[in-house]
Amino acid sequence: MQKKPEDIFNFAEYTDPCIKCAKCVPVCTIHNVNADEVTSPRGFLDLLGAYQRGYLELDANAKDIFESCFLCTACVEVCPKSLPTDMVIEQVRSDIAKKFGIAWYKRAFFLLLRHRWLNDLAFKMGWVFQTCGFKIKADIDSMHSRFSIPMLKADRLLPSLKKTSFLNSHPENINNGGKRKVAIFIGCLGNYNYKNVGDSLLNILKHLEIDAFLAKSQKCCSAPAYFTGDFDTVDYNAKFNIEYFESFSKDVEAIIVPEATCSAMLKIDYEHYFHDQPEWKARAMAVKDKIFMATEWLEKHTHLNELLEAKELDSTIVTYHDPCHAKKMQGIHEEPRNLIRKNYEIVEMSDPNSCCGFGGVTMQSEKYHFAKAAGVPKAAMIKNTKADVVSAECSACRMQITSAMGVESETVFKNPIELISDALNSKDKN
Ligand code: SF4
Ligand code: SF4
Repeated sequence: MQKKPEDIFNFAEYTDPCIKCAKCVPVCTIHNVNADEVTSPRGFLDLLGAYQRGYLELDANAKDIFESCFLCTACVEVCPKSLPTDMVIEQVRSDIAKKFGIAWYKRAFFLLLRHRWLNDLAFKMGWVFQTCGFKIKADIDSMHSRFSIPMLKADRLLPSLKKTSFLNSHPENINNGGKRKVAIFIGCLGNYNYKNVGDSLLNILKHLEIDAFLAKSQKCCSAPAYFTGDFDTVDYNAKFNIEYFESFSKDVEAIIVPEATCSAMLKIDYEHYFHDQPEWKARAMAVKDKIFMATEWLEKHTHLNELLEAKELDSTIVTYHDPCHAKKMQGIHEEPRNLIRKNYEIVEMSDPNSCCGFGGVTMQSEKYHFAKAAGVPKAAMIKNTKADVVSAECSACRMQITSAMGVESETVFKNPIELISDALNSKDKN
């Protein structure tokens, strides 16, 4: 049954101020691959206003439209009214999820995200975080049958799954001298799929003589659930993480996160999510001052720049992609570049701030044609730089960009934390 306006989130507060100036339209990721007014920020807001007033039913067509947003926040960045289109779309997706339910494979995935022991077990069996990979692999498999592409190469597009997670590979407390201490929130992709990011971060902290607390009880930040409208999982994981952070935050200088999406979720989206739970909103806001993206904290609060300056210049050419959840949501873009530039030449791509087109679980599974189309211009601009390495502090970007660049690309992906760690391991200048 259609909801009455008084039952729903106050969308009008965010939709009515839209002045229809269209500044958001040219930068919109979905509009650039599906040029229709209904799939533009202005169109989404218009439809949500109609939903608020009871003129729009959340039917299958509306579901299809609202699930096509990439949640990239490119529109928010340019909007003269700073309208949070991503946030209101996340909100309506919760109504959509309640009405239509959530697909079985997403429910199974979100169940894993609630229980790390279950996640660890599934990981041992080798199928965690392949929901996106399945689709990519299916796509490659079909290319293989049509164009005879060797299967071996298709496997390069799936993350390499190591059998012991990052958090289970190290002790919870790592002493590097006992003078300073930070906690690490590693994120699920870093924990299971791209373990070298966490290992590299530990190497950097060792060089800086800063102790590490691995915060082993951490749960998924719940960004995949939030973007899909599974607010029960968000509620469960966010409250757990906030209480957990409160339990140790006085003992550490910072909680550092080498992942843009996790960091933005913990710092910004928890506050959005708890808009109608004042006590939890206040608690989320109180802990967020301790949370930093890893390059941000390392660049601003340590002498890492000096350590890197002592190392030899590497001949590797790097191009840096700005993850939406880093630059647009948190203003982090200079920090990783400042650190990378100490040892590598950076060649900028034509538009490092454009979305790579990852978009979340639904985009990568049910709307993969949009993700694929959005990845094409990003892959082309990376190729034009002729860089050896494309870097971004985000494992979701890593999955999408690696897939978009394709099997023939010689450009490899590295998190800036991996590049910095490599530089620290290299020879001193003298
Ligand atoms: S930029 Fe903002 S105010 Fe202008 S049309 Fe887009 S959402 Fe509306
Ligand atoms: S969040 Fe991105 S894809 Fe969604 S409306 Fe805004 S610009 Fe378009």
